[in-house]
Amino acid sequence: PSPDDPPYLKGLNAPQREAVLTTEGPVLVLAGAGTGKTAALTARLAHLVATRRAYPSEILSVTFTNKAAREMRERVGRMIGPAVEGMPWLGTFHSIGARMLRRHAELVGLQSNFTILDTDDQLRLMKQVIQAASIDEKRWTAKQLAGLIDKWKNKGLTPAEIDAGESEAFAHGKGAEIYAAYQDRLRALNACDFGDLLLHMLTLFRSDREVLEQYQERFRYIMVDEYQDTNTSQYLWLRLLAQKRKNICCVGDDDQSIYSWRGAEVANILRFERDFPGAAIIRLEQNYRSTPHILAAASGVIAQNGGRLGKTLWTLEAEGEKIRVIGVWDGPEEARRVGEEIESLERQGVRADQVAILVRASFQTREFEDRFIQIGMPYRIVGGFRFYERAEIRDALAYLRLVNQPSDDLAFERIINVPKRGLGDKAVEKVHRVARAEGVPLMLAAAGISETDELTGQARKSLARFVGDIHRWRDLATSMSHAELARQILDESGYTTVLQAERSAEASGRLENLQELTRAMEEYETLGAFLEHVSLVMDNDAQADEAKVTIMTIHAAKGLEYDSVFLAGWEDGLFPSQRALDEGGLASLEEERRLAYVAITRARRRCYILHAANRRVYGQWTSSIPSRFVGELPKETVEEETTLSGGASLWRANWSERDDPFANIARGSGRGPGWQRAASQGNFLREPTRIVEARQSAVSLGNKGRDDISLGMRVFHQKFGYGQVTAIEGNKLEIDFEQAGAKRVLDSFVNPA
Ligand code: ATP
Ligand code: MG
Repeated sequence: PSPDDPPYLKGLNAPQREAVLTTEGPVLVLAGAGTGKTAALTARLAHLVATRRAYPSEILSVTFTNKAAREMRERVGRMIGPAVEGMPWLGTFHSIGARMLRRHAELVGLQSNFTILDTDDQLRLMKQVIQAASIDEKRWTAKQLAGLIDKWKNKGLTPAEIDAGESEAFAHGKGAEIYAAYQDRLRALNACDFGDLLLHMLTLFRSDREVLEQYQERFRYIMVDEYQDTNTSQYLWLRLLAQKRKNICCVGDDDQSIYSWRGAEVANILRFERDFPGAAIIRLEQNYRSTPHILAAASGVIAQNGGRLGKTLWTLEAEGEKIRVIGVWDGPEEARRVGEEIESLERQGVRADQVAILVRASFQTREFEDRFIQIGMPYRIVGGFRFYERAEIRDALAYLRLVNQPSDDLAFERIINVPKRGLGDKAVEKVHRVARAEGVPLMLAAAGISETDELTGQARKSLARFVGDIHRWRDLATSMSHAELARQILDESGYTTVLQAERSAEASGRLENLQELTRAMEEYETLGAFLEHVSLVMDNDAQADEAKVTIMTIHAAKGLEYDSVFLAGWEDGLFPSQRALDEGGLASLEEERRLAYVAITRARRRCYILHAANRRVYGQWTSSIPSRFVGELPKETVEEETTLSGGASLWRANWSERDDPFANIARGSGRGPGWQRAASQGNFLREPTRIVEARQSAVSLGNKGRDDISLGMRVFHQKFGYGQVTAIEGNKLEIDFEQAGAKRVLDSFVNPA
């Protein structure tokens, strides 16, 4: 370091400076969490621009998320000022890929205004392809085949490059054929999916030297953060771009590779040294983020993994607090406990936005959200929706709202064709028209229509069934607990079946969320009370400028850091996930362990790890044991405590009582309000649920008819044409149509001729 150092070099340690100043030739920075990899990369970007080695537009910088790109842009801006404007090539692989592809779309058979499909569109398209190819949709679902194609795209493979044997193994031997057909459909629609953003460019680079050379010239420098999570397609794309100038700097940490389920290849790190001979390998060992206890805990856990590249980590930080491992009785107590700890931190001056709660599975956020609403603690969910805002939860809530209150039109609209029951736009439009004309809720209009010939065939049957179901569930509500009712509704409506058929990680996440929803319902006396709670939660938008606690999944927390971090649900089956345990492979367990490493290393000063002795699954209490990762924490770095009387022994020793957690409550001293509430609402104690009566029954439209139509009158119906009225019953008419014969119709579709 010298006094003349430009500001962006100030404070960097020697290997970090090396990473910044070694601008020419390939550089690989391989270092553990919190060692300042991202910081060095940011300084390097500033250095390249400040020393005029390149214009901002000649540097390609890839980050893992858009948020990370924004942050890097801001930081560089602070270092070099307005020059930061005009960095079009700083972003994620997706955003950069899309920008490039738009410029050359016509070379791959697209137009520059192509659309990028989201996952839903992608599946819809896949369904069409499957049907056209007469493939058994039950055996090979759209989700499965779309997943397969993603996988191939992640590997950088076009349909022509799919290995025959691999193609044989899928879709009745038609794997590659389906892939090709899917690509054709995309082109016909002038669209592409996320995988295409890079794959098209990769294909183009390979076939069109001119285009490739243009970019090889342009990008004087290439930089990549979170390099351990690049997939093959991304790697090949980078390698082609860097081939000419070879000024590529990648930073990463093999221990933080947590996206192999999305095709990431840690092997890309080893490959780098091979493909770029003579690459400078820089190791950063000083950690600036965490206390020694936190580092030791993280290192202790990750040491259990095999095949690591291996790294040393040390810190000058003061020792600090030990990791606090807290055993609690159940989920509600976990949330209550975390809330209390955060309040206590706040009293010590910690700001809420310096606190994060990290979960393994997204359904886990619900318990915290409910608790925080109750105690008025502002929170935000990062990298996902708040629990009650997730699509499947809103769908389920819409069913419940409609059962609770048939005049809830918004709920009706949301689920009238979810899951798909053959009620297209036309049928729905019809219901709307009647409702408008009669001034009644959609549900009542639907009931009326379903008793007439306004709709035919499948649509009419479906509508009648839907109306009948809602009515039946309303009846059941008086004799059944509302959580059970919710489960029944989700089953009978076909909602769960559709998700189960998908057999994907995403669908099983949605199913978990739905289970969590019914679990939450058990804490409320009535359906009405529960729904009211939900509307309060939804309404609870904290002030924009208020400091909020962050809740997110570990995956979403990559690259971030917080003063205090709460790691919730460290129980076998939750973390490591049941999926990882079932698959049984060492590889999946090791990936879970890397997640644990990422989780712990997000913490700067305080790290809390929680595990509950009981979780409710499908309305049943099941006991759980602390995660094996808890056992892997070096003893001297942790401080264990449990809120259960008798200490850990009570819940560790004797599982014979586990089927009846209420038996333990008399002995447990740490039960809080949440726990008492849960106990008092055990199934055996619950009173029959009563639901608010709707103003009108959902079955008939009542007798309000039209004054301007009378028996014997000649009328015109928009669908059936002219006819004569032969009977009138309230708002329903029997008409003898001149072309269509006798029909029962609603008077709202009829006018005097
Ligand atoms: P991760 O692997 O989690 O992405 P990282 O290696 O990218 O971590 P950074 O996020 O860049 O680490 O840095 C971690 C923390 O250390 C940040 O708060 C950063 O500001 C700080 N830091 C980095 N380098 C230095 C340094 N030389 N001196 C002081 N603080 C530093
Ligand atoms: Mg980083």
